[in-house]
Amino acid sequence: MPELPEVESLRRYLIREGLVGRTFEQIDLEDKPSPKSGTGAISGTKNTVGRQVRSLERRGKQIAAVLDKGVLGFHMGMTGQIHVLEPDEPAPRFTRALFTMSGGFRLVLADPRRWAKIQHFESPDHAFAGLGPDALDPKFTSEQFACLLDGRKAQIKPLLLNQAIIAGVGNIYADEALHRVEISPAKRTNEIASEKLGTLFLAIRVSLEHALEFILNHPDDRGRPYIVDAYDARMQLHRKAGSFCPRCEIPLVTMKLGGRTAYYCASCQK
Ligand SMILES: [Zn+2]
Repeated sequence: MPELPEVESLRRYLIREGLVGRTFEQIDLEDKPSPKSGTGAISGTKNTVGRQVRSLERRGKQIAAVLDKGVLGFHMGMTGQIHVLEPDEPAPRFTRALFTMSGGFRLVLADPRRWAKIQHFESPDHAFAGLGPDALDPKFTSEQFACLLDGRKAQIKPLLLNQAIIAGVGNIYADEALHRVEISPAKRTNEIASEKLGTLFLAIRVSLEHALEFILNHPDDRGRPYIVDAYDARMQLHRKAGSFCPRCEIPLVTMKLGGRTAYYCASCQK
């Protein structure tokens, strides 16, 4: 599933390929009808015809192409991938939307599971509604993060995954960060000292930045960001049965929290 580092590498790839400044000329959608809202929605794309891309913004796992009027928002869902096509390249399997832009530039969304969303909004604020500050936003400080979590009784990991509090922390990066600072994913947040929450915030940043760096350095053979799986060298914790704590060298254990599987070390994470 594309997480913040994958989505940020996609944003940079699209900028590098020259998306900014292009105008939408034609949009071809799959024949299957898409829902107008919610999972898998594709809506309002007609409003982008004739509009120029001014910038590409990201908050959390969402991208917004800011146009000269309105915004086109993208969410990759589980399996969504956006690529720029070569001049004669046919649209790939599982194409849901093909955007033809000025200068013959073609952008395609391929999405086997059909959970990705593309929606037109009035403004970036509408596109990013409901999202907290981005985890890598330089204006977002560890003090602000500690303040947002301060005194909450909920277990820490589900709070980290709450995109309304902090946008862009996914399941695997929450596990990575909690392991780095030796906090159990099930720890009650109000039992964690404020300074320790500050350290956790920095660990989240380190985990996300390390993954982004890894993805940027491992593009596919056409320079496109690929969706990395959770077992590669980005991760300190190897999310599979029989893997070990890199610190204690004892087997990691798993726990279900808020419907997501946490991997952690029962010895060093308290
Ligand atoms: Zn350990």
